[in-house]
Amino acid sequence: MKLNLLDFTYSELEQFCSGLGEAPFRARQLWQWLWQKRERDFGRMTNISKELRERLGQTADVLWPEVVHVQASRDGTTKFLLALADGQHIETVLIPEKDHFTLCLSTQVGCALGCTFCATGRMGLVRNLTMAEILGQILVAREHVAGLTQGQTQGQTQDQTPDQTQELATGQILGQTQGLALRNLVFMGMGEPLLNWENLRRALESLHHPLGLDFSKRRITVSTVGVPGMLSEFGASGLASLAVSLHAPTQDLRARIMPRAARFVLDDLIAELAAYPLQPRQKITIEYVLLGGVNDDLGHARELVRLLNKVKAKVNLIPFHPSSELPYAAPDMNRVLAFENLLKSKGLPATLRKSKGQDISAACGQLRADVAALE
Ligand code: SAH
Ligand code: SF4
Repeated sequence: MKLNLLDFTYSELEQFCSGLGEAPFRARQLWQWLWQKRERDFGRMTNISKELRERLGQTADVLWPEVVHVQASRDGTTKFLLALADGQHIETVLIPEKDHFTLCLSTQVGCALGCTFCATGRMGLVRNLTMAEILGQILVAREHVAGLTQGQTQGQTQDQTPDQTQELATGQILGQTQGLALRNLVFMGMGEPLLNWENLRRALESLHHPLGLDFSKRRITVSTVGVPGMLSEFGASGLASLAVSLHAPTQDLRARIMPRAARFVLDDLIAELAAYPLQPRQKITIEYVLLGGVNDDLGHARELVRLLNKVKAKVNLIPFHPSSELPYAAPDMNRVLAFENLLKSKGLPATLRKSKGQDISAACGQLRADVAALE
């Protein structure tokens, strides 16, 4: 099989070019074509000699994940079902905010941790994503956004199934999102990012490159349940902001809700968070899914405040998104607001996550690459 050039970091691409007997600046040109101009056809890389383009074509490919299905929600959230080269599927979700888009990315096909409230967890782990597959999601999304800006209904016309054209043709969605740039990334899709650290690290390093995707570190957040030994490594890398999925204020309750993740004992996790390196004014985001009647009363809120007293934290409350296959109920809205108010009244910053894309199962925890549902 040919090499996928999207799997090379910048320095690997330089080595690859010197292996072909080319000067290092070729890597710079190629990198710009691949990541900034999103060109997949060597034939159109016009500042590269014809001879080199032919040689590239013989040894390498530029392979993006294939868009199998695009679904747009009433609120403008767009979910992409993507097929990978080996036939596996992942999902990625583009979320319109006030002045930009945020992309919610997957890092694995499925997830080994099987948290009891999460649709991805029910799939089990199939495999890790490569760097090209992680960053390929951004290329697909940027192409789609470029299509919106040019006033088309979508970016990947040839890849669309017929029903999407109708879903996306609603001018209303276009009007809401035209002109917004994709500027924020959250690794909150399928999979546990820190269990695929090597590929994630390469991806994060590559996407900061100013001649490539050019994302600022401050606009990237990685969400993790916490993996022993990995938080300090992630922190030391300084490559993105940290969000930790806590979901319970005690070890017992956490072990019930997320049995495998809770093998990283809560006291040890909190000790690592207290020692985590942060910039002045920076905080760790603590994610807390509110499960109706399970972890959402004021006693839990008080315990959470106590637990986090040594951590520079802000809490993001996420009302559970129910689905027929998951054994929980959505929380009562009054309890959610009371929970939020208690945290704030004790000086712990808290926000309620506005859920987007629920009508197309694109909200947090609902991703599971459900190909069968298309048929
Ligand atoms: N594995 C990582 C990242 C992916 S999950 C992690 O768990 O942090 C991203 C977020 O979605 C997590 O905070 C997760 O707890 C939340 N989530 C999962 N299932 C959910 C559901 N059904 N409703 C609401 N949030 C959910
Ligand atoms: Fe995996 Fe995160 Fe889902 Fe838990 S919540 S099963 S860690 S994706």
